[in-house]
Amino acid sequence: MMKKLEDVMNKKVVICPACGSDSIETIETEKTIKEPYGEPLRISINEYTCKVCGIQGDFLDNNDQIISTAIESAKKNSIYNIIEDLSQKKISMSAIERALDLPQRTLSKWKNGLSSPSASGVTLMYAVRTYPWLLDVAQHKFDPIVSRDVHIKAAVSDLLKMIPVIQEDIFTESGMIATSNSLFMYIKIDKKDQNTQIESSKRENYSLKDVSFTEVTE
Ligand SMILES: [Zn+2]
Repeated sequence: MMKKLEDVMNKKVVICPACGSDSIETIETEKTIKEPYGEPLRISINEYTCKVCGIQGDFLDNNDQIISTAIESAKKNSIYNIIEDLSQKKISMSAIERALDLPQRTLSKWKNGLSSPSASGVTLMYAVRTYPWLLDVAQHKFDPIVSRDVHIKAAVSDLLKMIPVIQEDIFTESGMIATSNSLFMYIKIDKKDQNTQIESSKRENYSLKDVSFTEVTE
């Protein structure tokens, strides 16, 4: 039987763990590993089928190792991209380190691969990249009032980006209806032509369901 290149390179001939036959069919599977904010990483893993007794599996017991190494490398790539993004947004690394109570120069070490964040450190970085305003919250030592205001301000700013506002359009009607668990907003826009005649009218609705409101007393 002709030996496969990878077996020669691994200096290992694949043998069936059940019957000892070396008549093995190799099935190569491509897998994509992707972590948030990272580029997808393609890996290939081998599964084997014994042509004599028919059992299938990872006879060389390599796949778990290959996958976990790939996940680790995908995480490093994510952390690199996140730190790069944050620096491009002109957020100072030492300000982030202070806000998150990280030792000085931790981020540059993570970025250069001189050290790696723990699993919770990685999750923290995903959270900060997704919601950069968390840094503001952390900077204020999670003060409940500041946290609420920072959060609402960020949410409203995101909400405004969802509403297509064009300067010449005229809002003829708008309103907001809040119930105990939902928020409904609507705007009616009249598009006018040069002679200020109404060209078209449209109404846009925005609704957020399952919102919980809490009464705030200050
Ligand atoms: Zn076999």
